[in-house]
Amino acid sequence: NPSLVPNNGVPSVIRKKLMGYVGFANLPNQVHRKSVRKGFQFTAMVVGESGLGKSTLINTLFNTTLYPPKEPLPPAAERPKTVAIESIGADIEENGVRLHLTVVDTPGFGDFVNNDDSWKPIVENIESRFDSYLEQENRVNRMKVVDNRVHACLYFIQPTGHSLKEIDIEFMRRLHTKVNLIPVIAKADTMTDEEIAEFKERILSDIAHHNIHIFQAPTYDNEDEETIAEAEEIASKIPFAVVGSDKVVVAPDGREVRGRAYPWGVVEVDNEEHCDFVKLRQMLVRTYMEELREYTNDVLYENWRTEKLVSMGVAQDSTVFKEINPAARMQEERVLHEAKLAKMEAEMKMVFQQKVQEKEAKLKQSEEELYARHKEMKDALEKQRADLEEKKKKIESGRPITPEKNTTGRRKGFLRT
Ligand code: GDP
Repeated sequence: NPSLVPNNGVPSVIRKKLMGYVGFANLPNQVHRKSVRKGFQFTAMVVGESGLGKSTLINTLFNTTLYPPKEPLPPAAERPKTVAIESIGADIEENGVRLHLTVVDTPGFGDFVNNDDSWKPIVENIESRFDSYLEQENRVNRMKVVDNRVHACLYFIQPTGHSLKEIDIEFMRRLHTKVNLIPVIAKADTMTDEEIAEFKERILSDIAHHNIHIFQAPTYDNEDEETIAEAEEIASKIPFAVVGSDKVVVAPDGREVRGRAYPWGVVEVDNEEHCDFVKLRQMLVRTYMEELREYTNDVLYENWRTEKLVSMGVAQDSTVFKEINPAARMQEERVLHEAKLAKMEAEMKMVFQQKVQEKEAKLKQSEEELYARHKEMKDALEKQRADLEEKKKKIESGRPITPEKNTTGRRKGFLRT
């Protein structure tokens, strides 16, 4: 398929129509409305052995056929020997909110006889995205920064029911400081509820044992009960046991649902009793997409940046080092320049604010003046009206309604003529 040709991380953009509710229309409630016009950029990575349902789940999550059906894996001897990185982009729209979605796939991961270095190209890809962002940030003209950083990584765990495999642990250990890890149990319809509960427990204890940090919903003290309850509910489902399907099937009660039909019944994707798909979508799209972006920027990227600068010698206060290392010196100059720019920006902001305040005060004053004048004129008019009223009354009471009569009952005028 032409849209899936490896393209060095540059997404081939296709426009997509949604086929139903996804949830990112809620994004404006997560961030300021201003961003609505610009649209949002979100990059999700999927990692896991082939056949675990990654493409299907992405299609199910974003309710669009982003991924066409895959060709079956060729025999081992004919497969490429490295993990490839492919990205595919789509502009999707929900209730007027535009989302530029990029999905980074990592075909080949875990598919080799020796998977020791499967994580390497993935780390490199994530870091090269950080690099490109840093490079854009350092440009003088920072108006159009494209954020291609990976904001979330869905890691697909094979539904073995045992515990995590070496490759899972190695991958998560290498990646957890670089990307928001969201572990999911693939094809959860192949396990019973009990098996899933036990498997989840084992996975979580493995993760804790290896000090792996997976993405957690943030908790704020000042949130309302509902938000806290929602966050707890989502957290309680991690690692999400998911079922993917972009097919509509008929449930026993006649409803048409997205799901998988088996001789013994139908597994519904959007039914929380059947799997954790809804909770995963809630976490990734509806509630925490902005948190995922923020954490990527504020923590993961920032840590990587600091580390990089340190490794380049910028933090070292050795003039000798800087003199013999022009790259480090340039980097330091760049950082200083950036700080200067930031200061100038802050000053400009202050001046602007001051001006706005002055203008506001002036406006308020002229408003008051206008109001006073208006009142004065109104009072004057009122007075004039009252005077006129008075005059009118006087005139009315002074003018005889019927001419005066003489004592004989005849009109004076008649006597005179
Ligand atoms: P990928 O190689 O990881 O992208 O996997 P695909 O999405 O191409 O799916 C591989 C096969 O697994 C396809 O036949 C899918 O129909 C099937 N599949 C996908 N998701 C699920 C699931 O949740 N449960 C089950 N039982 N099969 C699934």
